[in-house]
Amino acid sequence: MPNRYQAVSGLIEIADEWLLPNRYVLRAPVRFKEPSIAQSVLHETVHYWQHISSGFLALLAEEEWNRLIAFESEGELRKPGPIRHRFVEEAGEYNLTAQDLHEAAARYWEFMIQGNGIDDGIAFEEEMKKQGGAYAIFFTKSRAIYGDHAPIFFPMISHLALQTDHPAYYFDLFMEAVLNRFELGHEPIILEDLWQNHYTYIRTICIRRLQEEGVPSLLMAGQVIKDGSLRENVIYDWSFHRMNVTAEVAIGTDEFYSLKEKYPPEAPDFLIGLMVIDKALASPGSPLERSLLIEWLSPPCVLFSNGEYWNLGELYRRELVPEVNEQEIGLSKEREMIVKSCIDIKNRWAVFMQALRGY
Ligand SMILES: [Zn+2]
Repeated sequence: MPNRYQAVSGLIEIADEWLLPNRYVLRAPVRFKEPSIAQSVLHETVHYWQHISSGFLALLAEEEWNRLIAFESEGELRKPGPIRHRFVEEAGEYNLTAQDLHEAAARYWEFMIQGNGIDDGIAFEEEMKKQGGAYAIFFTKSRAIYGDHAPIFFPMISHLALQTDHPAYYFDLFMEAVLNRFELGHEPIILEDLWQNHYTYIRTICIRRLQEEGVPSLLMAGQVIKDGSLRENVIYDWSFHRMNVTAEVAIGTDEFYSLKEKYPPEAPDFLIGLMVIDKALASPGSPLERSLLIEWLSPPCVLFSNGEYWNLGELYRRELVPEVNEQEIGLSKEREMIVKSCIDIKNRWAVFMQALRGY
């Protein structure tokens, strides 16, 4: 079993045996005693973050969840549905898939967090190819189309394209629309500055481009979870609840005020809080943004090959709030329950898969 993020359960599975975790895992994987394990956990964690930000990936999780429920309640052996097909369907001029896109983005951040600079597009691409293999294809192709600025725009556009019902198709349209509106000079652009200063603008460009296609707006995972059957999936329901808590926490922070300036005065604070999270989910390579995600939105469970697991939410909560009072004990119990639910859904899915395959 290779390392993976499982959409239906929100579970991260790691092929190695368990070892003692510490705070370096997601904060500074290269400093962890087994950097390659921390790097794998980080990569799969980015997939978790993608699934709680991307409406498309949430729809994928929802479709699989519906298949599981149909099996458990009616014994139905439902085949993969339209979203799963679209996930691997090639689109656009360059025959890319949504799967390529989300893999390439995860690889990109994994690579960035390792501490490799991105100011040189060619060197970055070479490194991606060397280490990423197939994951690098999307990035390599987008660089061939968009030149040296691809490494800068790639993560933002991929994040926004994954918030549509056809990511591979909209990736092309968004890239073109964004690059048409930016004066690109020869000086290096710092990703964090660009993201910090232009996130709202880039997002607006993409929404306008969608509207030209007759689509009213981006599709965020929170909306999919709130309106559909994932509310019955304890992992996604919990993740949705955590995002709301985090949005409240974000209100009043520096990040909040810098985004607030870019919105009309009547925009509700909670909405801007959600945008602070969306921006962080779009940019987990930035230590500041990642810190918010690590502290409030750690993945529900990391399961190792020998059956032992990491409860990273608990680990980082103790880092943030070391003292343990009654309220903290309650929260710890909730996190432990979530770990168990995550493994439970994984086991239920395995029963379904076995019935579907017939062996
Ligand atoms: Zn991956």
